[in-house]
Amino acid sequence: MAKKTVKDLDVKGKKVLMRVDFNVPMKDGKITDENRIVAALPTIKYVLEHGGKVIAFSHLGKVKEEADKASKSLKPVAERLSELLGQPVKFIPETRGAELEKAVSELKDGEIMMFENTRFEDIDGKKESKNDPELGKYWASLGDVFVNDAFGTAHRAHASNVGIASHLETAAGFLMEKEIEFIGGVVNNPARPLVAILGGAKVSDKIGVIENLIEKADKILIGGGMMFTFLKAQGKNIGSSLLEEDKVELAKQLLEKAKANGKELVLPIDTVVAKEFKNDTEFKTVSVDAIEDGWMGLDIGADSIKLFSEKLNGAKTVVWNGPMGVFEMPNFAKGTIGVCEAIAHLEGATTIIGGGDSAAAAIQLGYADKFTHISTGGGASLEYLEGKVLPGVEAISDK
Ligand code: ADP
Ligand code: MG
Repeated sequence: MAKKTVKDLDVKGKKVLMRVDFNVPMKDGKITDENRIVAALPTIKYVLEHGGKVIAFSHLGKVKEEADKASKSLKPVAERLSELLGQPVKFIPETRGAELEKAVSELKDGEIMMFENTRFEDIDGKKESKNDPELGKYWASLGDVFVNDAFGTAHRAHASNVGIASHLETAAGFLMEKEIEFIGGVVNNPARPLVAILGGAKVSDKIGVIENLIEKADKILIGGGMMFTFLKAQGKNIGSSLLEEDKVELAKQLLEKAKANGKELVLPIDTVVAKEFKNDTEFKTVSVDAIEDGWMGLDIGADSIKLFSEKLNGAKTVVWNGPMGVFEMPNFAKGTIGVCEAIAHLEGATTIIGGGDSAAAAIQLGYADKFTHISTGGGASLEYLEGKVLPGVEAISDK
Protein backbone atom coordinates (compact mmCIF):
# COMPACT_ATOMS: atom_id res chain seq x y z
CA MET A 1 0.00 0.00 0.00
CA ALA A 2 1.27 3.47 -0.89
CA LYS A 3 0.08 4.96 2.40
CA LYS A 4 1.89 4.54 5.70
CA THR A 5 0.29 2.18 8.17
CA VAL A 6 0.77 2.00 11.91
CA LYS A 7 3.43 -0.68 11.35
CA ASP A 8 5.56 1.87 9.50
CA LEU A 9 5.73 4.04 12.63
CA ASP A 10 8.21 3.86 15.45
CA VAL A 11 5.79 4.42 18.34
CA LYS A 12 8.01 3.55 21.30
CA GLY A 13 7.96 6.35 23.84
CA LYS A 14 5.90 8.49 21.46
CA LYS A 15 2.67 10.32 22.15
CA VAL A 16 0.41 8.72 19.55
CA LEU A 17 -2.70 10.69 18.68
CA MET A 18 -5.31 8.23 17.50
CA ARG A 19 -8.52 9.15 15.68
CA VAL A 20 -10.89 6.24 16.20
CA ASP A 21 -14.53 5.79 15.27
CA PHE A 22 -16.36 5.49 18.56
CA ASN A 23 -19.58 6.89 17.13
CA VAL A 24 -21.59 4.12 18.78
CA PRO A 25 -25.36 4.05 19.21
CA MET A 26 -26.40 4.98 22.77
CA LYS A 27 -29.67 4.92 24.65
CA ASP A 28 -30.09 6.54 28.08
CA GLY A 29 -26.32 6.75 28.52
CA LYS A 30 -25.83 3.07 27.66
CA ILE A 31 -23.99 1.74 24.62
CA THR A 32 -26.40 -0.39 22.58
CA ASP A 33 -23.86 -1.75 20.08
CA GLU A 34 -20.15 -1.86 20.95
CA ASN A 35 -18.90 -3.24 17.62
CA ARG A 36 -17.00 -0.07 16.79
CA ILE A 37 -15.14 -0.12 20.09
CA VAL A 38 -14.22 -3.78 19.62
CA ALA A 39 -13.13 -3.08 16.04
CA ALA A 40 -10.70 -0.38 17.21
CA LEU A 41 -8.91 -2.67 19.68
CA PRO A 42 -6.27 -4.18 17.34
CA THR A 43 -4.75 -0.81 16.43
CA ILE A 44 -4.89 0.47 20.02
CA LYS A 45 -3.34 -2.73 21.38
CA TYR A 46 -0.61 -2.70 18.75
CA VAL A 47 0.52 0.79 19.77
CA LEU A 48 0.29 0.04 23.51
CA GLU A 49 2.21 -3.22 23.13
CA HIS A 50 4.92 -1.40 21.20
CA GLY A 51 5.43 1.10 23.99
CA GLY A 52 3.43 4.01 22.61
CA LYS A 53 1.30 6.39 24.67
CA VAL A 54 -2.18 6.49 23.16
CA ILE A 55 -4.31 9.63 23.14
CA ALA A 56 -7.57 8.45 21.58
CA PHE A 57 -10.44 10.62 20.40
CA SER A 58 -13.57 10.41 18.29
CA HIS A 59 -16.76 12.19 17.41
CA LEU A 60 -20.10 10.96 18.74
CA GLY A 61 -23.26 12.04 16.96
CA LYS A 62 -23.87 15.69 16.22
CA VAL A 63 -23.37 18.43 18.80
CA LYS A 64 -25.11 21.71 17.99
CA GLU A 65 -25.64 23.36 21.38
CA GLU A 66 -24.62 23.07 25.05
CA ALA A 67 -27.74 21.03 25.80
CA ASP A 68 -26.52 18.23 23.47
CA LYS A 69 -23.37 17.68 25.49
CA ALA A 70 -24.86 15.56 28.27
CA SER A 71 -26.10 12.82 25.91
CA LYS A 72 -23.07 13.03 23.62
CA SER A 73 -20.25 12.47 26.09
CA LEU A 74 -17.69 9.76 25.32
CA LYS A 75 -17.27 8.95 29.01
CA PRO A 76 -19.30 5.70 28.84
CA VAL A 77 -17.21 4.68 25.83
CA ALA A 78 -13.96 5.28 27.73
CA GLU A 79 -15.29 3.10 30.57
CA ARG A 80 -16.22 0.28 28.22
CA LEU A 81 -12.92 0.58 26.38
CA SER A 82 -11.11 0.21 29.69
CA GLU A 83 -13.01 -3.03 30.41
CA LEU A 84 -12.30 -4.41 26.96
CA LEU A 85 -8.59 -3.55 27.14
CA GLY A 86 -8.22 -4.69 30.74
CA GLN A 87 -6.36 -1.52 31.69
CA PRO A 88 -7.30 1.99 32.83
CA VAL A 89 -8.35 4.55 30.23
CA LYS A 90 -8.04 8.02 31.70
CA PHE A 91 -10.89 10.16 30.42
CA ILE A 92 -10.60 13.95 30.18
CA PRO A 93 -14.00 15.62 29.78
CA GLU A 94 -12.53 18.44 27.67
CA THR A 95 -11.40 18.90 24.09
CA ARG A 96 -8.64 21.40 24.95
CA GLY A 97 -7.01 23.18 27.88
CA ALA A 98 -4.75 22.71 30.88
CA GLU A 99 -6.36 19.55 32.27
CA LEU A 100 -6.02 17.80 28.92
CA GLU A 101 -2.44 18.97 28.41
CA LYS A 102 -1.45 17.85 31.91
CA ALA A 103 -2.93 14.38 31.38
CA VAL A 104 -1.03 14.05 28.10
CA SER A 105 2.25 15.05 29.73
CA GLU A 106 1.75 12.53 32.55
CA LEU A 107 0.97 9.62 30.24
CA LYS A 108 3.55 6.80 30.43
CA ASP A 109 4.62 4.31 27.75
CA GLY A 110 1.91 1.68 27.24
CA GLU A 111 -0.80 3.85 28.79
CA ILE A 112 -3.94 5.18 27.16
CA MET A 113 -6.20 8.16 27.67
CA MET A 114 -9.19 9.59 25.83
CA PHE A 115 -10.57 13.05 25.50
CA GLU A 116 -14.09 14.28 24.93
CA ASN A 117 -16.22 14.19 21.76
CA THR A 118 -14.42 16.19 19.07
CA ARG A 119 -17.73 17.69 17.99
CA PHE A 120 -18.03 19.57 21.28
CA GLU A 121 -15.88 21.98 19.26
CA ASP A 122 -18.78 22.44 16.83
CA ILE A 123 -20.90 24.46 19.25
CA ASP A 124 -18.85 27.58 18.73
CA GLY A 125 -18.37 27.95 14.97
CA LYS A 126 -18.20 24.32 13.83
CA LYS A 127 -14.45 24.23 14.42
CA GLU A 128 -14.20 20.45 14.16
CA SER A 129 -16.53 19.90 11.20
CA LYS A 130 -15.22 22.87 9.23
CA ASN A 131 -11.60 21.91 9.88
CA ASP A 132 -10.67 25.12 11.68
CA PRO A 133 -6.90 25.36 11.09
CA GLU A 134 -6.15 26.53 14.65
CA LEU A 135 -7.97 23.52 16.13
CA GLY A 136 -6.18 20.93 14.00
CA LYS A 137 -2.86 22.59 14.81
CA TYR A 138 -3.66 22.60 18.53
CA TRP A 139 -4.60 18.91 18.64
CA ALA A 140 -1.52 18.04 16.58
CA SER A 141 0.61 19.88 19.18
CA LEU A 142 -0.47 17.31 21.80
CA GLY A 143 1.25 14.38 20.06
CA ASP A 144 4.32 13.19 18.19
CA VAL A 145 2.64 11.09 15.50
CA PHE A 146 -0.92 10.58 14.27
CA VAL A 147 -2.79 7.36 13.54
CA ASN A 148 -6.12 7.63 11.74
CA ASP A 149 -8.32 4.56 12.10
CA ALA A 150 -11.68 6.24 11.51
CA PHE A 151 -12.63 5.31 7.95
CA GLY A 152 -16.28 6.29 8.54
CA THR A 153 -15.33 9.98 8.51
CA ALA A 154 -12.66 9.73 5.79
CA HIS A 155 -14.99 11.36 3.24
CA ARG A 156 -15.04 14.52 5.36
CA ALA A 157 -12.20 16.97 5.96
CA HIS A 158 -12.47 17.63 9.69
CA ALA A 159 -9.96 19.05 12.16
CA SER A 160 -9.66 15.65 13.90
CA ASN A 161 -8.56 13.83 10.75
CA VAL A 162 -7.33 16.11 7.94
CA GLY A 163 -6.45 19.06 10.19
CA ILE A 164 -4.13 17.10 12.47
CA ALA A 165 -2.64 15.17 9.55
CA SER A 166 -1.37 18.35 7.95
CA HIS A 167 0.98 18.86 10.93
CA LEU A 168 2.21 15.35 11.81
CA GLU A 169 3.50 12.16 10.29
CA THR A 170 0.25 10.24 9.74
CA ALA A 171 -0.44 6.54 9.36
CA ALA A 172 -3.51 4.40 8.74
CA GLY A 173 -4.68 2.14 11.56
CA PHE A 174 -5.55 -1.47 10.75
CA LEU A 175 -9.23 -0.76 10.01
CA MET A 176 -8.37 2.10 7.70
CA GLU A 177 -5.69 -0.02 6.05
CA LYS A 178 -8.24 -2.76 5.22
CA GLU A 179 -10.66 -0.26 3.71
CA ILE A 180 -7.95 1.26 1.54
CA GLU A 181 -6.76 -2.18 0.49
CA PHE A 182 -10.17 -3.58 -0.42
CA ILE A 183 -12.49 -0.71 -1.37
CA GLY A 184 -9.57 1.25 -2.78
CA GLY A 185 -8.46 -1.92 -4.57
CA VAL A 186 -11.83 -2.35 -6.28
CA VAL A 187 -11.78 1.12 -7.77
CA ASN A 188 -8.08 1.32 -8.53
CA ASN A 189 -6.75 -2.09 -9.38
CA PRO A 190 -9.24 -4.99 -9.18
CA ALA A 191 -8.49 -8.57 -10.10
CA ARG A 192 -10.72 -9.34 -13.09
CA PRO A 193 -13.36 -10.16 -13.94
CA LEU A 194 -14.88 -7.63 -11.55
CA VAL A 195 -18.61 -8.07 -11.00
CA ALA A 196 -20.55 -5.27 -9.32
CA ILE A 197 -23.90 -5.99 -7.71
CA LEU A 198 -26.03 -2.94 -7.08
CA GLY A 199 -29.34 -2.70 -5.31
CA GLY A 200 -30.87 -0.90 -2.39
CA ALA A 201 -33.61 1.62 -2.42
CA LYS A 202 -32.97 4.37 -4.91
CA VAL A 203 -31.13 5.12 -8.12
CA SER A 204 -30.71 8.71 -6.96
CA ASP A 205 -28.64 7.68 -3.91
CA LYS A 206 -26.31 5.63 -6.09
CA ILE A 207 -25.85 7.55 -9.33
CA GLY A 208 -22.15 8.14 -8.66
CA VAL A 209 -21.56 4.52 -7.68
CA ILE A 210 -23.38 3.14 -10.73
CA GLU A 211 -21.58 5.50 -13.11
CA ASN A 212 -18.16 4.69 -11.69
CA LEU A 213 -18.72 0.94 -11.53
CA ILE A 214 -20.12 0.82 -15.07
CA GLU A 215 -16.69 2.09 -16.09
CA LYS A 216 -14.69 -0.17 -13.78
CA ALA A 217 -16.64 -3.44 -13.64
CA ASP A 218 -16.86 -6.12 -16.31
CA LYS A 219 -20.44 -6.96 -15.37
CA ILE A 220 -23.08 -5.07 -13.40
CA LEU A 221 -26.02 -6.86 -11.80
CA ILE A 222 -28.89 -4.66 -10.68
CA GLY A 223 -31.57 -5.59 -8.13
CA GLY A 224 -33.34 -3.90 -5.21
CA GLY A 225 -35.77 -1.02 -5.48
CA MET A 226 -33.65 0.67 -8.13
CA MET A 227 -34.24 -2.14 -10.63
CA PHE A 228 -37.75 -0.86 -11.31
CA THR A 229 -36.57 2.49 -12.62
CA PHE A 230 -34.39 0.52 -15.06
CA LEU A 231 -37.27 -1.80 -16.01
CA LYS A 232 -39.44 1.26 -16.58
CA ALA A 233 -36.69 2.66 -18.79
CA GLN A 234 -37.04 -0.50 -20.87
CA GLY A 235 -40.72 0.28 -21.26
CA LYS A 236 -42.03 -2.33 -18.86
CA ASN A 237 -45.03 -1.99 -16.58
CA ILE A 238 -43.86 -1.96 -12.97
CA GLY A 239 -47.18 -1.65 -11.08
CA SER A 240 -46.74 0.28 -7.85
CA SER A 241 -43.08 -0.69 -7.39
CA LEU A 242 -40.59 1.93 -6.27
CA LEU A 243 -40.07 4.35 -9.16
CA GLU A 244 -38.04 7.50 -9.54
CA GLU A 245 -39.79 9.07 -12.48
CA ASP A 246 -37.09 11.73 -12.85
CA LYS A 247 -34.37 9.08 -13.12
CA VAL A 248 -35.91 7.04 -15.95
CA GLU A 249 -34.02 9.05 -18.54
CA LEU A 250 -30.76 8.54 -16.63
CA ALA A 251 -31.46 4.79 -16.40
CA LYS A 252 -31.87 4.74 -20.18
CA GLN A 253 -28.55 6.52 -20.62
CA LEU A 254 -26.83 4.10 -18.23
CA LEU A 255 -28.22 1.11 -20.13
CA GLU A 256 -26.90 2.62 -23.36
CA LYS A 257 -23.56 3.53 -21.83
CA ALA A 258 -23.05 -0.03 -20.62
CA LYS A 259 -23.91 -1.35 -24.08
CA ALA A 260 -21.63 1.12 -25.83
CA ASN A 261 -18.74 0.10 -23.56
CA GLY A 262 -19.33 -3.60 -24.07
CA LYS A 263 -20.33 -4.10 -20.43
CA GLU A 264 -22.96 -6.58 -19.43
CA LEU A 265 -25.65 -4.81 -17.40
CA VAL A 266 -27.94 -7.52 -16.10
CA LEU A 267 -31.44 -6.86 -14.81
CA PRO A 268 -33.63 -9.37 -12.96
CA ILE A 269 -35.98 -11.54 -15.05
CA ASP A 270 -38.53 -12.13 -12.31
CA THR A 271 -39.66 -10.39 -9.15
CA VAL A 272 -41.58 -11.12 -5.97
CA VAL A 273 -44.56 -8.77 -6.02
CA ALA A 274 -46.73 -7.92 -3.03
CA LYS A 275 -50.06 -6.22 -2.44
CA GLU A 276 -48.73 -4.00 0.34
CA PHE A 277 -45.38 -2.87 1.75
CA LYS A 278 -45.40 -5.27 4.70
CA ASN A 279 -44.30 -8.80 5.45
CA ASP A 280 -47.74 -10.26 6.05
CA THR A 281 -49.45 -9.55 2.78
CA GLU A 282 -50.36 -11.47 -0.35
CA PHE A 283 -47.32 -12.05 -2.59
CA LYS A 284 -46.23 -14.06 -5.64
CA THR A 285 -43.36 -14.36 -8.10
CA VAL A 286 -43.94 -13.05 -11.62
CA SER A 287 -41.87 -12.36 -14.73
CA VAL A 288 -40.68 -8.75 -14.99
CA ASP A 289 -42.82 -8.64 -18.15
CA ALA A 290 -45.97 -9.49 -16.21
CA ILE A 291 -46.12 -7.05 -13.30
CA GLU A 292 -49.76 -6.04 -12.86
CA ASP A 293 -51.12 -2.77 -11.57
CA GLY A 294 -51.78 -2.85 -7.84
CA TRP A 295 -48.66 -4.98 -7.13
CA MET A 296 -45.25 -3.82 -6.01
CA GLY A 297 -41.95 -5.64 -6.49
CA LEU A 298 -40.18 -6.17 -3.17
CA ASP A 299 -37.53 -8.72 -4.12
CA ILE A 300 -35.87 -10.44 -7.06
CA GLY A 301 -37.31 -13.86 -7.94
CA ALA A 302 -35.80 -17.35 -7.92
CA ASP A 303 -34.92 -17.30 -11.64
CA SER A 304 -33.07 -14.02 -11.15
CA ILE A 305 -31.11 -15.48 -8.24
CA LYS A 306 -30.11 -18.31 -10.57
CA LEU A 307 -29.19 -15.88 -13.33
CA PHE A 308 -27.14 -13.68 -10.98
CA SER A 309 -25.38 -16.77 -9.59
CA GLU A 310 -24.39 -17.79 -13.13
CA LYS A 311 -23.13 -14.29 -13.87
CA LEU A 312 -21.05 -14.38 -10.68
CA ASN A 313 -19.31 -17.60 -11.67
CA GLY A 314 -15.66 -17.05 -12.43
CA ALA A 315 -15.56 -13.59 -10.84
CA LYS A 316 -12.22 -12.70 -9.29
CA THR A 317 -13.57 -9.63 -7.52
CA VAL A 318 -17.14 -8.97 -6.42
CA VAL A 319 -18.29 -5.69 -4.99
CA TRP A 320 -21.80 -5.42 -3.65
CA ASN A 321 -23.76 -2.39 -2.59
CA GLY A 322 -27.49 -2.43 -1.89
CA PRO A 323 -29.76 -5.32 -0.82
CA MET A 324 -31.65 -7.19 -3.56
CA GLY A 325 -35.00 -6.75 -1.83
CA VAL A 326 -36.66 -5.61 1.34
CA PHE A 327 -34.50 -7.98 3.38
CA GLU A 328 -35.85 -6.60 6.66
CA MET A 329 -39.06 -8.55 5.92
CA PRO A 330 -38.45 -12.34 5.85
CA ASN A 331 -40.79 -12.88 2.89
CA PHE A 332 -38.67 -10.54 0.77
CA ALA A 333 -35.19 -11.50 2.00
CA LYS A 334 -34.67 -14.50 -0.31
CA GLY A 335 -33.04 -12.54 -3.11
CA THR A 336 -30.46 -11.05 -0.78
CA ILE A 337 -29.88 -14.45 0.85
CA GLY A 338 -29.56 -16.08 -2.58
CA VAL A 339 -26.90 -13.63 -3.68
CA CYS A 340 -25.07 -14.08 -0.34
CA GLU A 341 -25.12 -17.85 -1.00
CA ALA A 342 -23.79 -17.45 -4.52
CA ILE A 343 -20.96 -15.24 -3.30
CA ALA A 344 -20.18 -17.59 -0.40
CA HIS A 345 -19.61 -20.40 -2.92
CA LEU A 346 -17.22 -18.49 -5.16
CA GLU A 347 -13.69 -19.81 -5.04
CA GLY A 348 -10.62 -17.62 -5.12
CA ALA A 349 -12.59 -14.39 -5.37
CA THR A 350 -12.16 -11.26 -3.31
CA THR A 351 -15.65 -10.33 -2.15
CA ILE A 352 -16.51 -6.95 -0.71
CA ILE A 353 -19.63 -5.36 0.70
CA GLY A 354 -19.99 -1.60 1.03
CA GLY A 355 -22.92 0.41 2.38
CA GLY A 356 -24.66 0.58 5.73
CA ASP A 357 -27.76 -1.49 4.99
CA SER A 358 -25.88 -3.94 2.80
CA ALA A 359 -23.41 -4.66 5.60
CA ALA A 360 -26.30 -4.96 8.07
CA ALA A 361 -28.08 -7.40 5.72
CA ALA A 362 -25.05 -9.68 5.34
CA ILE A 363 -24.49 -9.70 9.10
CA GLN A 364 -28.17 -10.16 10.00
CA LEU A 365 -28.61 -12.97 7.48
CA GLY A 366 -25.56 -14.80 8.87
CA TYR A 367 -23.07 -14.33 6.03
CA ALA A 368 -20.61 -11.92 7.65
CA ASP A 369 -17.73 -14.40 7.64
CA LYS A 370 -18.31 -15.37 3.99
CA PHE A 371 -17.03 -12.07 2.65
CA THR A 372 -13.42 -11.02 2.31
CA HIS A 373 -14.28 -7.56 3.56
CA ILE A 374 -17.37 -5.84 4.90
CA SER A 375 -16.82 -2.12 4.88
CA THR A 376 -17.96 -0.29 7.97
CA GLY A 377 -17.83 3.04 6.22
CA GLY A 378 -21.43 3.72 5.13
CA GLY A 379 -21.21 7.09 3.38
CA ALA A 380 -17.41 6.89 3.15
CA SER A 381 -17.52 3.52 1.37
CA LEU A 382 -20.10 4.84 -1.10
CA GLU A 383 -17.98 7.88 -1.94
CA TYR A 384 -14.94 5.65 -2.26
CA LEU A 385 -16.88 3.40 -4.66
CA GLU A 386 -17.86 6.50 -6.62
CA GLY A 387 -14.16 6.88 -7.33
CA LYS A 388 -13.82 10.04 -5.25
CA VAL A 389 -10.65 10.92 -3.43
CA LEU A 390 -11.42 10.74 0.30
CA PRO A 391 -9.74 13.63 2.13
CA GLY A 392 -9.13 11.52 5.25
CA VAL A 393 -7.31 8.87 3.20
CA GLU A 394 -5.48 11.40 1.06
CA ALA A 395 -4.12 13.12 4.19
CA ILE A 396 -2.31 9.95 5.36
CA SER A 397 1.42 10.17 4.73
CA ASP A 398 2.80 8.33 1.70
CA LYS A 399 5.30 5.56 2.33
P1 ADP B 1 -26.95 0.80 1.57
O1 ADP B 1 -27.24 1.41 2.92
O2 ADP B 1 -26.27 -0.52 1.69
O3 ADP B 1 -26.23 1.73 0.65
P2 ADP B 1 -29.59 1.43 0.60
O4 ADP B 1 -29.77 2.37 1.74
O5 ADP B 1 -29.46 2.02 -0.75
O6 ADP B 1 -28.36 0.45 0.87
O7 ADP B 1 -30.82 0.46 0.47
C1 ADP B 1 -31.30 -0.35 1.51
C2 ADP B 1 -32.79 -0.39 1.54
O8 ADP B 1 -33.34 -0.70 0.27
C3 ADP B 1 -33.30 -1.45 2.49
O9 ADP B 1 -33.90 -0.82 3.58
C4 ADP B 1 -34.28 -2.25 1.65
O10 ADP B 1 -35.47 -2.57 2.34
C5 ADP B 1 -34.57 -1.32 0.50
N1 ADP B 1 -35.07 -2.03 -0.67
C6 ADP B 1 -34.49 -3.06 -1.32
N2 ADP B 1 -35.26 -3.49 -2.32
C7 ADP B 1 -36.39 -2.74 -2.31
C8 ADP B 1 -37.58 -2.74 -3.09
N3 ADP B 1 -37.76 -3.60 -4.10
N4 ADP B 1 -38.52 -1.81 -2.78
C9 ADP B 1 -38.32 -0.94 -1.79
N5 ADP B 1 -37.22 -0.90 -1.01
C10 ADP B 1 -36.26 -1.79 -1.26
MG1 MG C 1 -28.70 2.85 3.50
